[in-house]
Amino acid sequence: VYILGIESSCDDTSASILCNGHVLSNVVASQKIHEQYGGVVPELASRAHQQNIVPVVDQAIKQANINKSDLSAIAFTRGPGLMGSLLVGTSFAKSLALSLEIPLIDVNHMQAHILAHFIDEEDFDKPEFPFLALTISGGHTQIVKVTDHFDMEIIGETIDDAVGEAFDKSAKILGLPYPGGPLIDKHAQSGNPKAFPFTKPRVDGLNFSFSGLKTAVLYFVQKQVKENPDFIKENLEDVCASIQYTIINILIDKLKKASKETGIKTIAIGGGVSANSGIRKSLKEGEHKYGWKTFVPKFEYTTDNAAMIGIVGYLKYLKRDFTDMSIVAKARIKF
Ligand code: ATP
Ligand code: FE
Repeated sequence: VYILGIESSCDDTSASILCNGHVLSNVVASQKIHEQYGGVVPELASRAHQQNIVPVVDQAIKQANINKSDLSAIAFTRGPGLMGSLLVGTSFAKSLALSLEIPLIDVNHMQAHILAHFIDEEDFDKPEFPFLALTISGGHTQIVKVTDHFDMEIIGETIDDAVGEAFDKSAKILGLPYPGGPLIDKHAQSGNPKAFPFTKPRVDGLNFSFSGLKTAVLYFVQKQVKENPDFIKENLEDVCASIQYTIINILIDKLKKASKETGIKTIAIGGGVSANSGIRKSLKEGEHKYGWKTFVPKFEYTTDNAAMIGIVGYLKYLKRDFTDMSIVAKARIKF
């Protein structure tokens, strides 16, 4: 079974070919244009998707060494995401499926961040059901109870900013370019995580809040810079390490709580922020500290990519769960 996966929910245009759940190609065209604006500009994103989609899909097919006529089905991101961006992938997928006369499969982007764990990879075990998925990305922060591939329940989520936003907005305050998450990660590696304590928010149940941290970082940095204009330059590593340490503590605390409440000790992370080295390390430590069995996806399947869309396509293909031409993109969807 050959599946073409297409992802265009935000600012990455991606296409991937999977053969029976195994990735043959995974092409990602990232849009550099947004860097200068310090965030994704929706109009520019959809225009770049329009320019990228044909060459990206062609390249994915070429790299996989197959022909268009070999495809069994086309899977695409229906949402959630930016409407203009989603529309490009959705209409492209529809017209290609129509012309090739093959089934069309709609995919939920957040479900895909979780099901990326089921991509067939050597040396990578798949989590066993039921497990808890912590999805941490640019737009979402969720703890999901996963009972089966398509039986998922959100048991906790952010009430304001997503964790990726907390990283990116803190980075912006420190004068780092967008997206700042990976840069905070980089600078944090040689910093002291306990140099500058930031308080953790108090949020009921399994929900998260990150907007307070961003404000705390802003006030803290403003105050320090007033006393010493070179504060950021002199303390960048320690500040980054302290911010990252606080964020990781918030995430691990809620995971501990979720694990206790559900009795589930298998934990998988997904989404762009799961590329973070500190989070990966803390999760691994959880294996010894709390008896968890943890799963971290391969690096290239953490941030937006079409391979994760393709694996959901494959799993739905096996169930003959197809959609028809009346399907429309949707900016907000739950599962
Ligand atoms: P969503 O999946 O919610 O629609 P998105 O697709 O924009 O949002 P992803 O591509 O999954 O988000 O993740 C992007 C986010 O991940 C950005 O906020 C980025 O800063 C963050 N990120 C990527 N690498 C790291 C890292 N090493 N450390 C911290 N954050 C990171
Ligand atoms: Fe994403």
